[in-house]
Amino acid sequence: NVVVVGSFNVDHVWRCEVLPAPGATIAGRYSTGPGGKGFNQAVAARRAGADTTFVCALGDDAGGAMARGLAAQDGFTLTAEACSEPTGTGGIYVDARGRNTIVIGPGANAALSIGFVQGQQALLAAAKVVLVQLESPVDTIEAALGLAREAGVITVLNAAPADAPSSISLLKLADVITPNETEFAALLNRHVGERIDPNDVAALDGASLHALCRKLVGSGTVVVTLGAVGVFVSHDEDTLRGDAQPYYRIGAEQVQAIDTTGAGDAFNGALVASIAHSPDAPFARHVRFANQFAGRSTEKEGAAVAMPHFTPDDQPA
Ligand code: ADP
Repeated sequence: NVVVVGSFNVDHVWRCEVLPAPGATIAGRYSTGPGGKGFNQAVAARRAGADTTFVCALGDDAGGAMARGLAAQDGFTLTAEACSEPTGTGGIYVDARGRNTIVIGPGANAALSIGFVQGQQALLAAAKVVLVQLESPVDTIEAALGLAREAGVITVLNAAPADAPSSISLLKLADVITPNETEFAALLNRHVGERIDPNDVAALDGASLHALCRKLVGSGTVVVTLGAVGVFVSHDEDTLRGDAQPYYRIGAEQVQAIDTTGAGDAFNGALVASIAHSPDAPFARHVRFANQFAGRSTEKEGAAVAMPHFTPDDQPA
């Protein structure tokens, strides 16, 4: 089973011709739905077949009720700290070219406390895999990883969003970290003073990318997601997680991508579901499954609502 600790947002999306300029009032096609990296990843883990619990913080409002309703509908357990803050929100403008401008109201997500997570110690210790992101207070996330690590549970850190605070001690608590190119560049800059343009990451040769991953985390696996290019994996030479190679690339699925929002969330949820399903399988098999799951998630509009239903058992071995 999988425990995801993280954020829930009610997303409000306006699709407009152009993004509004300061002072402008424009019209757009409105839709609303669930979001937040934690929630999206919990939905993905569940739909990828894992018995899933999502630990988050919610306000006493319609957004909180929405989170509980959707979790019940998707068949996962939601364990929420009750907060006086409003449930998290996202205000998103998307233009005709698919570019976006986003404002996040962290609300209750920013109030997820260390104490509440400590109260989930038994739950965390009983998990096969614990998955976290950085849309919650970093100290709380570090506490969750620490409790999981203490119990010998596999820990996965999706170090997103890119501008979130993080620390070396946090990275060290993760068995696997899963940045996209932007997050990878941000981590390198922040923690090892290595400046690299996110747009150049995918074009680096394997040995150079591997060296950068090893510079970032001495031990521990780094999975860099490369959007439409696929994925790069780098292991510590002493811990190959069942793989034959310390580093390798896996190409993206050939799909008709229409909306890549939440592709990273799909990837992370599916990755931990696969690890929980067969912890002793070669790591490359989990990455291949997650890559397929994430590719399929881009064929529908939306994030959580676009997650496919597709488990490791649906795969040829
Ligand atoms: P994020 O959503 O965090 O920016 P990426 O863009 O790196 O993350 O996407 C995560 C994963 O989703 C990729 O590694 C890949 O497996 C899949 N993916 C994303 N975009 C596409 C695409 N256009 N075609 C196929 N797979 C994709």
